[in-house]
Amino acid sequence: MRNFIVAIDGPAGSGKSTVAKILAKKYSMTYLDTGAMYRMCALYFLENNISLNKQENIDKHLPLINIDIDKDSFYLNGKDVSKEIRTPEVTALVSYVAKIKEVREKMVELQRKISFGKDVILDGRDIGTVVFPNADLKIFLVASPEERARRRMKDYEEKGIKEEYNKVLAGILERDFIDSTRKEGPLKKAEDAVEINTDGDTIEETVAKLGVFIGVARQQKAKRDGEKYDI
Ligand code: C5P
Repeated sequence: MRNFIVAIDGPAGSGKSTVAKILAKKYSMTYLDTGAMYRMCALYFLENNISLNKQENIDKHLPLINIDIDKDSFYLNGKDVSKEIRTPEVTALVSYVAKIKEVREKMVELQRKISFGKDVILDGRDIGTVVFPNADLKIFLVASPEERARRRMKDYEEKGIKEEYNKVLAGILERDFIDSTRKEGPLKKAEDAVEINTDGDTIEETVAKLGVFIGVARQQKAKRDGEKYDI
């Protein structure tokens, strides 16, 4: 019996990670925040002041990036960087790092390795299209850029980070553009994904909607596996 895989893709601030975390807990699944993995790569390049424009820099440094994840804690080369990867500086750089082919190859391989044999919910941009094209359920979460910027502002406020709304909105639009126009693993809705617009929804409402789809997908999988599963 194959493990149960849920792919949640969508642009920055659509609510993916918040709802994925809650759903994973509710359904006793492993949650993998793939954005955090790209953020760790960005942090490495930022902290070591490495220019992304030279291929030799990528070839030399990429093998030196070691990523470990333990529940909500993210370790870059043994150091807990869970807070550092959420700063505006990393956020501004991450899309430029995530469009590098070799970075993506390394992260996709790691994502598949971490997920192996587990029931898992992954959130990202290319999970349903590249990482797990055979996922049991694919969700594409969307929301207007303004609503997503307001959510990011709230996140920053809670973390005590001061940012201007217009700057946050511009950053979101820039990331959307870079993420959706890159060659490798662009932000894209998989053909068989369910699109859900979270504009105006509370977290609980989005969780409830996704919960319905997870219930149905689990039932369908149980049928395929020849087991009985009650929602
Ligand atoms: O999800 P989050 O906003 O933390 O992701 C940060 C960045 O990582 C995205 O803007 C995108 O550039 C990159 N990313 C990606 N593919 C994924 C997840 C994230 O390219 N699967």
